[in-house]
Amino acid sequence: MHISGMGGVMLEIENLCCSYGKVNAVKGISLTVKKGELVALVGANGAGKSTTLRALSGLISPTRGTIRYEGQNITGNTPRSILSKGIAHCPEGRHVFPEMTVEENLALGSYLRRASSQVESDMRQMFKRFPILEERKKQPAGLMSGGEQQMLAIARALMSRPRLVLFDEPSLGLAPAIIDRVFDLITEIRNEGMTVLMVEQNAYAALEMCDHAYLIEAGVIKKSGSGKALLEDPQVREAYLGG
Ligand code: ATP
Repeated sequence: MHISGMGGVMLEIENLCCSYGKVNAVKGISLTVKKGELVALVGANGAGKSTTLRALSGLISPTRGTIRYEGQNITGNTPRSILSKGIAHCPEGRHVFPEMTVEENLALGSYLRRASSQVESDMRQMFKRFPILEERKKQPAGLMSGGEQQMLAIARALMSRPRLVLFDEPSLGLAPAIIDRVFDLITEIRNEGMTVLMVEQNAYAALEMCDHAYLIEAGVIKKSGSGKALLEDPQVREAYLGG
């Protein structure tokens, strides 16, 4: 299948199954992300959301199923090859390199792009967008607050000039004011034309900001629809939004 025949579909996952040894974490997930959308995966702890993102970015190999991106089958491709195709992963827990400086962490985000002039100009863009990172550019990333490290992780993902950005629990462990900033940033990124697939345990915030959402329970999709439709769904309200 080719992208032009897919009506704006950017990512298509079909019957994805992933396991860790004997633990079946993802049991036949199918979902679609259209170009320019902000799509949220919501659901309880351990539902299989992070595993789905890990399979997408090549960190784990699915046991079954197909992942198509821009019409190409990328199932089981290496993380490097997937990054080079324009998919960046902003992982849960941020995973910045604590001993490396802010600048060095950012440079890692663009390691596949060789022209250093481009990397420098992208870094200047990031500093414009995240002034705190410029202030801290020579400092070890591990000395920054959780919120600052999250900004760094987002900036590092953007350094690869992705077309699809995967965010795993971007609000995890952050103070409320910072959470709002992170969600605003993710919306901005979508408004600039990037496509976003986000995993989030804060179901209310995720459903409010997304175009489309999938509710995952125990490795399968239980419901899908517009963020608004899921926010109004009595079962979703009772189980995830406090009634
Ligand atoms: P969380 O918000 O806790 O990350 P999640 O919905 O993202 O939840 P996953 O992290 O995808 O869930 O986990 C799905 C299942 O796979 C869980 O049962 C979890 O215990 C198991 N699991 C996840 N990572 C591993 C691992 N590295 N080794 C073994 N089991 C794992």
